Amino acid sequence: MPELPEVETIKRDLQQKIVGRTILTVTPEWPGSIRCPSAEEFTRLLRGQKIEEVSRRGKYLLLRLSNERMLVIHLKMTGQLLVRGPDDAEDRFVRVRFKLDDGRELRFADLRKFGRLALYNSNMTQKGMVRETRAPYLEDFWKLGPEPLSADFTLEAFTKLIRSRSARMKSLLLNQFFLAGLGNIYADEALFKAGIHPLRKAESLTEEEIRKLYEAIKDVLVSAIGDRGTSTDNFRDTAGEPGFHQFHLYVYQRTGQPCSRCGTLIERMKLGGRSTHYCPKCQLKQEGQ
Ligand SMILES: [Zn+2]
Repeated sequence: MPELPEVETIKRDLQQKIVGRTILTVTPEWPGSIRCPSAEEFTRLLRGQKIEEVSRRGKYLLLRLSNERMLVIHLKMTGQLLVRGPDDAEDRFVRVRFKLDDGRELRFADLRKFGRLALYNSNMTQKGMVRETRAPYLEDFWKLGPEPLSADFTLEAFTKLIRSRSARMKSLLLNQFFLAGLGNIYADEALFKAGIHPLRKAESLTEEEIRKLYEAIKDVLVSAIGDRGTSTDNFRDTAGEPGFHQFHLYVYQRTGQPCSRCGTLIERMKLGGRSTHYCPKCQLKQEGQ
């Protein structure tokens, strides 16, 4: 599933490729991808609108339009946004097609069909959208935790957050209401980098461990954005190209391979239904062990 670095990669691509373009037509090839409003209304409201701005919050992409509406996109498991010219080949699993005024198309492709598109009144402010009452699909959006790469995400703020929780660290990092944008890949990578076992409870972390984890979260995200994301699954950028952070992973999907730090074989366990990858030697189960 695309996480913060993958969605950020798409966001940056879209900022270069489609900001300033006008949507001529929208074709819902599988209307189920459109969650709000109806597919007909969605199509009608987007026609003729200029794309003013593309931003990101957690794993959500936000496209602000000239009619003060916001197109909100969550790629979920397998969603892809592709920008294609008239001579480009057709893509597989295209669910919604946006024709742009420069002859190109923005295609929302989604093999598994879990991705969601929704259109809201935006009422943009500098900080984001003003809460809209009639937006059931966005309920989770308003509860998102801090952005790990924002200026407000300080060590003090992170320490406070950790100190208010008691859950196991892996589950906590996956919780979007605790911290926005991390998923299975970067939660595993950050815990490895900080030397913290995924089963550790938040309350057991020392100040030094909190500081290390804070740095590790930022480091793994920045490094993955630099690599244009991880393509261990079907993640592709807007040109249909894979990222290359899969070549720079420490533990994620490296079960049975030697740890790059100590040579111990990387292990995997199931935690809350998700695979968790870790080094049993580098990641301490308890402080000092
Ligand atoms: Zn190790």
